[in-house]
Amino acid sequence: MINRRQFLAGMSALTLVGGRARAGDAAAVLAPLRQGYLRRIGAIKAQGVLPIIDIESSYNPYRIDVPSFVRGMDDNGIAVMALSVDMPGKAYSETNRWSDHCLDLVRDYPDHFLPVGNGGVHPAWTKSPQQFLEDQDAALATGRYALMGEFEFRHYPSPRQVERGELFRDVNIPIDGPLGEHLFATAQHTGLAFQIHYEIEDVLLPPLETMLARYPGAKVIWCHFAQIRYGGRALSYGPDYLRGLLERFPNLYVDTAFGGPDGVYQLSGERHAHYWAERDGWRRVIAAHPYRFLAALDIGGDRMDRLNSWSRNLRDFLGDLPSALAEIVAYKSAWKLLYGEDLPI
Ligand SMILES: [Zn+2]
Repeated sequence: MINRRQFLAGMSALTLVGGRARAGDAAAVLAPLRQGYLRRIGAIKAQGVLPIIDIESSYNPYRIDVPSFVRGMDDNGIAVMALSVDMPGKAYSETNRWSDHCLDLVRDYPDHFLPVGNGGVHPAWTKSPQQFLEDQDAALATGRYALMGEFEFRHYPSPRQVERGELFRDVNIPIDGPLGEHLFATAQHTGLAFQIHYEIEDVLLPPLETMLARYPGAKVIWCHFAQIRYGGRALSYGPDYLRGLLERFPNLYVDTAFGGPDGVYQLSGERHAHYWAERDGWRRVIAAHPYRFLAALDIGGDRMDRLNSWSRNLRDFLGDLPSALAEIVAYKSAWKLLYGEDLPI
């Protein structure tokens, strides 16, 4: 049974404006889940472990052992995950374009998962991007999602794709084109945050700034903090630039899924996790705007077995921060983004 207040919260989360979903905010969608998340965060803290809210991971809904994965979350102190469906190419078809499977995760493990939309990835996003956005609009209009998935606008082949020879996965969609306009407008209308995979390159920065300025109400999570795969293409990006960007655009967030200090991107031969080479500078930016940095694991359908090692990697980074700062980045910033309030425990 839902009470009147919950019913009204649900109604305000779902108001159709010109056919497009208009959610009040993520907090309304998340209100029924709040106590469960708090319980879980508190339980992990009681064990003396730093809880983590992972704002950006994905999975293949046809190839996940959910109970085993949940045990892995428990073992690694991962309190809550935004684990979004990436519809796999083998399952994708004209009639099977969008999956609500994430809502099943939330139903079965309501303390563990956030209701997050599908990832904007190949093939749904690259083959029929406009259709994907319309499918997403329809899904958001049900008022059951609190967050959108990760959209690949500029994406070099990942290290695992390079290993598999999948070099076609070189995505380049203008963020200031019609698809970007649609997505930013959806975020602005619904109040739901979305994630972007957007390689750090000098030529890509002005279009991103244009969109952030044009849609000041769109909450954007730029994934993979300081991950630069070709240093020569990103000469203008550094701590000063990012700090300026965060100060000019209050709705910009950064997720901290990036590799360890020795990780090399095969196609350039460069160490791509730039955080480690300039730790003091980057830590100063985080300290200046801690609630804009979000912990993320970047688990994916082709790397579900890396929960242990990637959690360790994330904790290496968090352990490199002063503890009060690590607490914010690990879970308090995500709470504030999602609920619009300071974590009450
Ligand atoms: Zn990504």
